[in-house]
Amino acid sequence: MLDNTHDAARRSWVSSANAHDDFPIQNLPLGIFSRADGARRAGVAIGDFILDLTRLAEAGLIDAEAADAVVATGDGTLNGLFALGNAPRRSLRQQLFALLEESSRDRARVEPLLHAAKDCKLHMPAVIGDYTDFYAGIHHALNVGRLFRPENPLLPNYKYVPIGYHGRTSSIDISGKGIVRPNGQRKRPDEIDPTFGPCRNLDYELELGFWIGTGNDLGKPINIAQAADHIAGISLLNDWSARDVQAWEYQPLGPFLAKNFATTISPWVVTAEALAPFRAAQLARPDGDPAPLPYLYDSKDQAAGAFDILMEAFLVPSGAEQGDAHRLSCGSSISMYWTPGQLVAHHTSGGCNLQPGDLLGSGTLSGETPDSRGSLLEITNGGRVPFQLASGQSRVFLEDGDTVIYRGHCRRDGFASIGFGECRGTVLPAP
Ligand code: MN
Repeated sequence: MLDNTHDAARRSWVSSANAHDDFPIQNLPLGIFSRADGARRAGVAIGDFILDLTRLAEAGLIDAEAADAVVATGDGTLNGLFALGNAPRRSLRQQLFALLEESSRDRARVEPLLHAAKDCKLHMPAVIGDYTDFYAGIHHALNVGRLFRPENPLLPNYKYVPIGYHGRTSSIDISGKGIVRPNGQRKRPDEIDPTFGPCRNLDYELELGFWIGTGNDLGKPINIAQAADHIAGISLLNDWSARDVQAWEYQPLGPFLAKNFATTISPWVVTAEALAPFRAAQLARPDGDPAPLPYLYDSKDQAAGAFDILMEAFLVPSGAEQGDAHRLSCGSSISMYWTPGQLVAHHTSGGCNLQPGDLLGSGTLSGETPDSRGSLLEITNGGRVPFQLASGQSRVFLEDGDTVIYRGHCRRDGFASIGFGECRGTVLPAP
């Protein structure tokens, strides 16, 4: 589904958009913003600006299906737009592209509807009805499995079932918020009884968040052949994790309070259309791995169901300046063992209904190499091996005042690079 909006040669009259690290005209991610009056409205990021979609529609500068898409954001969320499906979203992208292109004749009418992004406040893009976090990063599963079961790191179900758990939506917030270190029950191996107190092993997980567009009715699974059409876009996601709490509580029902105190997402939804040039074949399964069961197998999904998104994590240690950010890891989302479409097909296969604005986390995305490990649990080999920072400090897990920043970019020869903007959070002391 490539078209003129993916042409790397096209430029915008918004000069900061040209060669912008995240938001050139080929991206056009959707979000919710407000200005001094506090009213939440849908916007699109272009260079260093946000274009007000509501005012654009009111001015009659967009029409037909694209205008319907904007009207659907009237409640200050993208849920209604997501619910309309792909065609109105694609139409909106095409009309926005034409209005913002260098050759546009409407510049004089569009320009007053741009706001400097630094003067705007961003909000949650959608009301998230339900949130599910998967475990699709096989290198993460292997790295973590090796810590506990060196001989047999992957459990026998891993290559058959996309593993996941139902998470908590109330504590999901956008980039820039403080993350209060949770109190919880934890017990070190050398302790006889657990105690309640501040988490000692606070960690992050480098993930993608997949936004559900159209959902499905209860009892009507989404077929793998159509599953990708139900993903409206992608954000970066940090599944903050209290490892000591997790170790004590996770058996037999899985993560609970270790995960439900905070999740951070980047506020811009990079649409499925913007990501079209960066689709990739599903991770090749090594010889001997089982083929996906038929309900998870589709030749088109195998050929182009994955995404190649370069993901980086940085640590700005407590007291340091942003310029002293330490790069924790760099890897690609191509390492997912399951495609987003397979996650959707599996999630609904028993009849469960997804709804517009639901969020699916990928699971921690680590690569094969040591410099691409997406959590401190992996980087420090289970908390056993500290790592050094340029300042001479060292870390095992996160300390109060530490800031974790994610960046994500899609780069491919012949196409304009696009990015996700920031996903950041700063650790605050336990209450
Ligand atoms: Mn996770």
